[in-house]
Amino acid sequence: MAKPKKSESSLSCSECGLLNCYRRDKRFPPFCLTTQAADKLVANTTGLYRGKGQDARLARAAAEVEGTYYGKLTRVEEIIAFANRIGARRIGIATCIGLIEETRIFVRVLQAHGLESYSVLCKAGSVDKTEIGIPDEMKIKKGCHESICNPILQARLLNRQKTGLNVIVGLCVGHDSLFIKHSKAPVTTLITKDRVTGHNPAAALYTSGFYYQRLLQPGKKL
Ligand code: SF4
Repeated sequence: MAKPKKSESSLSCSECGLLNCYRRDKRFPPFCLTTQAADKLVANTTGLYRGKGQDARLARAAAEVEGTYYGKLTRVEEIIAFANRIGARRIGIATCIGLIEETRIFVRVLQAHGLESYSVLCKAGSVDKTEIGIPDEMKIKKGCHESICNPILQARLLNRQKTGLNVIVGLCVGHDSLFIKHSKAPVTTLITKDRVTGHNPAAALYTSGFYYQRLLQPGKKL
């Protein structure tokens, strides 16, 4: 299949075959975002990672976890290591109802590592979908009470608990966007929901050469 042509001005890192910004062992392409932004934007951004501000603390903690445990720890453990380094003693969990059992296990893991947790289910508030204008036909199970996912309430309840780090366990696409937008504590993700691939969204990309060829085919608007 012919690749869609992109105009020069819209080329970005996904079109770069060099990735020279990582180790500087090749060259920068003509459209390189590093060289184009090599003015105040890079300097101003780098400044945020220095000093004692929250961005700097998070950046250093993330780099320390990566550098110390690269390829050795599971993501569950990396979250604990990260929480310890940013001084978060109370972990908020925004969980999907479909992953409540995984959340319960995660809570036990946190406890085993001396961390408190506070979980809020996506259905908390128990607001029927029709109350926000979603028609009954759009419910998974029609003709009965079916609560909306309520990511803003999840965030607000965790904000009230003054959690130091919030962890997403399987929130839907878009509900996670709202949760992240309204969370006061920094957010990381333990499980990214994919109902079809057992929560491994990368599987669709890995298998797009054969089983998921449809991903690359122009089709009806989703
Ligand atoms: S910043 Fe430049 S070198 Fe790095 S991936 Fe983007 S285009 Fe390539």
